[in-house]
Amino acid sequence: MVRIDGAAVAAKVLVETKQRVDALRQRGIQPGLAVVLVGDDPASRAYVRSKDRKAAELGLHSVKEELPADTTQEQLLALVEKLNADPAVHGILVQSPPPPQIDEAAIVRAIDPSKDVDGFHPVNVAKLALEDPTGFVPCTPLGCIRLLQESGIETAGKNAVVVGRSMIVGKPMALLLMKRGPGGDATVTVAHSRTKNLAAVTRAADIVVAAIGRPHFLGADHIREGAVVIDVGINRIDDPSNPKGYRLVGDVDYDAVADRCAAITPVPGGVGPMTIAMLMSNCVTAAERLTA
Ligand code: NDP
Repeated sequence: MVRIDGAAVAAKVLVETKQRVDALRQRGIQPGLAVVLVGDDPASRAYVRSKDRKAAELGLHSVKEELPADTTQEQLLALVEKLNADPAVHGILVQSPPPPQIDEAAIVRAIDPSKDVDGFHPVNVAKLALEDPTGFVPCTPLGCIRLLQESGIETAGKNAVVVGRSMIVGKPMALLLMKRGPGGDATVTVAHSRTKNLAAVTRAADIVVAAIGRPHFLGADHIREGAVVIDVGINRIDDPSNPKGYRLVGDVDYDAVADRCAAITPVPGGVGPMTIAMLMSNCVTAAERLTA
């Protein structure tokens, strides 16, 4: 069994990304990332802080915009417009979820697609479906594909089952796996909460991608001998033995399935570190394209 080391692959992506930042800076261009946080959700605040810190570490111009929880749709749209027009900002993301008065889909549509480094704008969703490489692909599924490639796992002709159909993970993951070319060409099945006999569906898979949001949901019954498992889930479960009172686990019961897998990502330390690394890479890509 190979335990796929997401932290090591993420570190490699960040080294490559730093080299691209340095090349841009030699041309007098500093890639800029703007991260917008509305409200004070602690998890969102932590995500924004780590994105801001990573961007600064890589030598990016990092703009952190923190708005109060009672920010109106108009105020947020005005900020997005300002960032769209700012030539020092090449990538923009608005941390999800925003407070309830905000129409998140409308905010995503307001972001200039050429600065949409999360890959959530309808133009970029369409480009992914069209296999048009000029778009941006959501960071988590992009990171999953990179993990498979860096681990030498062939996807062409393999049966891949993606459990979950969100626009952030499951759906783009399925599109990437079925895309023509390296990291793609798989025969893809997408399962979700209405799927009947999920265990039979996932047991037929050479590659299982779990993006469900339920701790330890996939167990030994779901995974066949020799399968590759990519666990996207990040779930908190109570753990009195941990000083924080909780620990993070995936959607897959790692201990129950690891022995039968050809390769598996742990949680934490698997997909998680890849997401932020791919975000940095997407931001540098945006800067390269906008200044070409
Ligand atoms: P969503 O809640 O948006 O989607 C969950 C999906 O799982 C839905 O499609 C849902 O089906 C499906 N599902 C729910 N219950 C079942 C079930 N009983 N059987 C089969 N399918 C089911 O979650 P996300 O896609 O945003 O996130 C998924 C997980 O990945 C979460 O744990 C999240 O924290 C994590 N995550 C991790 C990231 C990282 O960086 N590693 C980044 C983003 C997310 P239906 O559509 O029918 O409701």
